[in-house]
Amino acid sequence: FDLRNEDLAELRELGQGNGGSVKKVEHLPTHTIMAKKIVLIDAKPSVRKQILRELQIMHDCHSQYIISFYGAFIADPNICICMEFMDKGSLDGIYKKIGPIDIEVVSKVALAVLEGLTYLYDVHRIIHRDIKPSNILFNSQGQIKICDFGVSGELINSIADTFVGTSTYMSPERIQGAQYTVKSDVWSLGISLIELALGRFPFSDSTDEDDDDLSSCPSDLSDLESTLSPARVKSRESYLAQKASQEAERQARKSQKQLLQHIVNEPAPKLGPEGRFPKESEDFVDGCLLKDPEVRQTPKQLLLHPWIEHARNSDLNLVEWASTF
Ligand code: ATP
Ligand code: MG
Repeated sequence: FDLRNEDLAELRELGQGNGGSVKKVEHLPTHTIMAKKIVLIDAKPSVRKQILRELQIMHDCHSQYIISFYGAFIADPNICICMEFMDKGSLDGIYKKIGPIDIEVVSKVALAVLEGLTYLYDVHRIIHRDIKPSNILFNSQGQIKICDFGVSGELINSIADTFVGTSTYMSPERIQGAQYTVKSDVWSLGISLIELALGRFPFSDSTDEDDDDLSSCPSDLSDLESTLSPARVKSRESYLAQKASQEAERQARKSQKQLLQHIVNEPAPKLGPEGRFPKESEDFVDGCLLKDPEVRQTPKQLLLHPWIEHARNSDLNLVEWASTF
């Protein structure tokens, strides 16, 4: 494909994330339906070109567990990444629509993600870095594929600063500043699997109260007032609105920090309550969520786990499952 923005007709929006949005588009010259991810990047043209070069590796990624790549281009000021469209969307959207996902389907998800991660690492030395339900996609042919992996170091750097919020699939060692390894992805997989099986994010609203040094954040509304000059705000109303949104951001940062502390300090979540799920699935998730990365297994090792063996041999029909929603 020689992709040009003017050849892509936007059909609808598929979703929004931290770094931008994703649209369903038709490539008019070939009538190919694609997903176009628009990434807002505040970077020099030279950096943008570097990102584009790095993204080309995706042309060499061929696996049934990895989203196909059609190409990327710069559409000032954005970078557009065109990929295979998955008509059933991401797994977070699916469980939000239909509720907790059957554990046998979840085992197929685990299998697909482990295969995808093993392919990326063994063949291309790529670590995914962002495994979560919104980056695991499904289609009506019953295929499960991962997307949004960290192929471009420059891209990772360029969007890293715009983040606030939900990097909560992050492993304890990453939170503590260690390098990413394939084992960090395994932790994120464990959290994601619990989320799918329970139909909710496994860390309930953080209950820890030890939130001492939030030094970089204003600590109450009177502090906020001093950071914002009313004279420079048009009306009292927009001033109050701005104050409210700063307060909301402060709250978000605070609960984010509590969550990160919780992940580091507390025992890892489990697939439960006991007895609800097969023993092998509990054991697999426990293995993903070993807090010490030294003893946690790699995706390749985990492909040999009995629960994954079962998933491989299961005759569960995902095409049929896909047709139920
Ligand atoms: P974050 O920005 O934190 O990574 P995210 O993964 O939800 O969050 P995006 O990657 O921008 O954000 O994706 C937004 C939504 O678009 C996803 O949740 C998914 O539902 C949808 N989506 C992304 N890629 C595709 C695709 N190839 N086919 C179909 N839907 C897609
Ligand atoms: Mg994504």
